[in-house]
Amino acid sequence: MGKNGKVEEDWESDLSPERFKVLRMRCTERPFSGKLLYNDEKGVYICAGCGAVLFRSESKYDSGSGWPSFMAPASEEAIIEREERSHGMTRTEIVCGKCGGHLGHVFDDGPAPTGQRYCVNSLSLEFQKIE
Ligand code: FE
Repeated sequence: MGKNGKVEEDWESDLSPERFKVLRMRCTERPFSGKLLYNDEKGVYICAGCGAVLFRSESKYDSGSGWPSFMAPASEEAIIEREERSHGMTRTEIVCGKCGGHLGHVFDDGPAPTGQRYCVNSLSLEFQKIE
């Protein structure tokens, strides 16, 4: 039994196949394919798995990477970082602090003042506009 009392089969039936692959199987969407990549409306980015608020539009910037990029999470608890060793690299995976869904990775080549680049799959996110 996972967080939120959900087993992986529940996630598979609740999410679209594309979102399931990213959020639960930790796949990466193709760069420049995400719907939210160039979204610059004012609002919040929530977890496509559980609805938790993950990022705010004020922190979004264009990193040129092909994935939505943020310089900071919405709150300290929003995101959990995990060391990941795969493909011969050590990277820092980021997951939703509430449901554990895979979001992407964080790198230390972001802009000032944080210097952080939260590189996130658009499929892991939903956008809620704030008027
Ligand atoms: Fe979540």
